[in-house]
Amino acid sequence: MTTETPSQEQSNPTIAIIGAGIVGVSCALHLVRLGKRVMLIDRAGPAEGTSHGNAGVLACCSVVPVTTPGILRRAPKMLFSSDGPLFMKWRYFPKLLKFLVPYLKASKAETVDHVARHLTPLVADSVDEHFNLSEGSPARKWLNRSPYMFVYADRAAYEADSFTWDLRKKNGFKWQVLEGDAIRKREPSVASHYGCAVILEDHGFVSNPGQYVKDLAATAVAEGVELRITGVNAIVQNPQGVTLKTEDGEIEAGAVVIATGAWSASLAKAHGANVPLESERGYHVVLAEPSMQPTMPVMDAKGKFVATPMADGLRVAGVVEFGGLDAPPSQAPFDLLLRGISNLIPNFTYKSKVTWMGHRPATADSLPVIGRSPVSKNVYFGYGHHHIGLTAGPKTGRLLAEMVAGLQPNIDLHAYRADRYS
Ligand SMILES: Cc1cc2nc3c(=O)[nH]c(=O)nc-3n(C[C@H](O)[C@H](O)[C@H](O)COP(=O)(O)OP(=O)(O)OC[C@H]3O[C@@H](n4cnc5c(N)ncnc54)[C@H](O)[C@@H]3O)c2cc1C
Repeated sequence: MTTETPSQEQSNPTIAIIGAGIVGVSCALHLVRLGKRVMLIDRAGPAEGTSHGNAGVLACCSVVPVTTPGILRRAPKMLFSSDGPLFMKWRYFPKLLKFLVPYLKASKAETVDHVARHLTPLVADSVDEHFNLSEGSPARKWLNRSPYMFVYADRAAYEADSFTWDLRKKNGFKWQVLEGDAIRKREPSVASHYGCAVILEDHGFVSNPGQYVKDLAATAVAEGVELRITGVNAIVQNPQGVTLKTEDGEIEAGAVVIATGAWSASLAKAHGANVPLESERGYHVVLAEPSMQPTMPVMDAKGKFVATPMADGLRVAGVVEFGGLDAPPSQAPFDLLLRGISNLIPNFTYKSKVTWMGHRPATADSLPVIGRSPVSKNVYFGYGHHHIGLTAGPKTGRLLAEMVAGLQPNIDLHAYRADRYS
């Protein structure tokens, strides 16, 4: 249910959206379906950023942030052990420090509780949001409803993860625990040394995330959205709306949505956003013609990687590396993912591989930034979705579209405000 609020003060009817990842494309589609004139701008084209290479999981239950109580104790092991899923480009460390302080501070139990409570409305019903958005689009063919499985060495390892599962339970999620052969009965690809698994029904996955977003963008264009390929360097609020300073000159619009993922800080800061943002670099390998693959996304809870069956092979994705937006990929995360998949699936072989590294837009408190600028009335924000951007993109796009169109979204957006670090 949405209700009208006073119309926005903008004489130019065009709404510009910067960033054609899952968030920007979803917002564009929702806005054009609300009858608005929309321009979608990306310096590289749809799905050329992080939305290309994620694990494809519609992770309705992903409400637990990376930083949880005890992270300081666990981090050195994750960082320095040869099988740890955390990596650091040490040359970047001095620059990272400013982010690490609020990031680690957010691991307090009460903050984590707050974060989980406010991630839940963005992800819990996300599968339906994806199906609704892709109605009538070729993008629909990449969507799959499925369970989501987490695997552990044994019951003790699952129980040691109780903080995570208690938090999910508190937020309304339900699951079944499988042990021994019951795991293989449900998911035959998982090796027998995994003695415990958790299965959550009513999840889903996208079997080609990049093409999915490209297909949604093509649908948006077919429905009237203008797509412009150029980089935006600055946004100036003016009495009529906004002026975008781009690599190809100025663009005038009535309002603008910043949906530039991990690259959002420079544009958003000038309009009052003060939530610390970093790239949590993540990696994937797509293995063509795998000897076996799971029927659903399977998360190795210790290795913190997901194996998802994709249109072009088995995608193994995960790892967090801090190293900024500019450094080239490292080799060690790829090697770790390959060791991980050989451990997960018995006698695993494949024909060829494609590798990728991308930038999760990570805010210090693991809540995205969604809403209107506190200082520029025609500027809106939709970024910072770290590990859940694919999942939450369509819902975020809808909430933003409603806001920009002068409708009242039906969830309280206060927790996602851009100046919450004031
Ligand atoms: C390894 C890995 C696995 C993941 N797995 C999952 C998963 O299974 N499920 C899930 O929900 N999420 C997952 N994620 C997270 C998810 O991919 C991201 O949160 C999501 O893609 C972010 O989408 P976005 O639209 O905000 O940003 P992006 O997709 O990065 O889009 C931003 C766009 O902005 C453009 N841009 C940037 N700056 C400018 C500028 N100045 N001018 C013009 N254009 C600009 C870029 O070209 C880019 O196209 C994963 C991420 C990684 C790295």
